[in-house]
Amino acid sequence: MNIPQDIIARLNELPIEAVADKLGIYVRRHKALCFKHDDHNPSITFSTSKNIYKCWVCGIGGGPIKLVQDKNACDFQTACVWLGQEFNISWSERKTYRNVIKRTSPKKLQLTKHKEETSMFDKEVFTWLIDNTTLLDSAKFFLFKERCLNEDIVQKQRIGSVVNSFNIVNALVNKFGEDTCLRTGLIRKSCNGRYFYFYTPCLLFPYYDQDGILIGVQSRYLGANKKVPRFQFASSQKTRLYNLPILNSLKRGDKLYISEGITDCLALLSDGLNAVAIPSATILPLEDLIFLKNYELHMYPDQDEAGEKAFIALQRFFINHYSIVKKEALPEGVKDYCDYHVKKQEING
Ligand SMILES: [Zn+2]
Repeated sequence: MNIPQDIIARLNELPIEAVADKLGIYVRRHKALCFKHDDHNPSITFSTSKNIYKCWVCGIGGGPIKLVQDKNACDFQTACVWLGQEFNISWSERKTYRNVIKRTSPKKLQLTKHKEETSMFDKEVFTWLIDNTTLLDSAKFFLFKERCLNEDIVQKQRIGSVVNSFNIVNALVNKFGEDTCLRTGLIRKSCNGRYFYFYTPCLLFPYYDQDGILIGVQSRYLGANKKVPRFQFASSQKTRLYNLPILNSLKRGDKLYISEGITDCLALLSDGLNAVAIPSATILPLEDLIFLKNYELHMYPDQDEAGEKAFIALQRFFINHYSIVKKEALPEGVKDYCDYHVKKQEING
């Protein structure tokens, strides 16, 4: 395959930090941990003016294409194809094909979407995904350094992370075959090839039912691209309450906190409190919430309009089921429980 010179130039003009982000490199203030060696203090710096990166310890560096080569351990051509895929830059006959796809009628697109939603949640594939992803450096940094979460709690929740979508797509296809992977919605296909459904780098939060059966997976994007949705659910998944297994260890009348979102839930658990989470302020999994009515329910609503609305909706739901949820107030200037947890850690040193 011949890659036209103007395309190579365009690929090398892609913002280096956006490329790093797509590769799952966690960039903060133009610095990142080097992926070539054990690195604890960020040794890589990015120059946005020269559009290059450099590791000051091992010496690797270069522009966007070189960064892909180094990170994915691939040759120049493979790196170009990968970048083209990730940033929707196509060349040769592929361009016409892409245009045809774009012109597909909205009706047809809707049908496809509907089909995806009604397909079953593939427990086997998703269980393998959870069992075969661990916490990588950017994920650890987010969970333990930024959010100050308890390591045992995070481990018990079996939270994983994916940094290199290229590797995980290959591993999944090798294990289960392409057809199965496509059917789960975890891998998608465009004219440029296969891609991973969840934006990476991301955390993976498994949802289990009370019997410990995997019932869903939610991702939390860790990159810097503002256009990417922060949270995604595995397609075809009915939204459920997070951390249902905790109910097995509670008895009637025990204190239980309901949080908005998983990170708040993890912060509550890290503080030694019992907690479950609704997936977001606007998603109330009613069929699971009904099981909570025999506990002493509490909630710290987020200090914003959505948080207040979520609390009111929950309050209404439990009143209708002859139960109450008590509102707890966060200190002034603290936006949510996670923020509160972090501030408490800072005070305690
Ligand atoms: Zn290095």
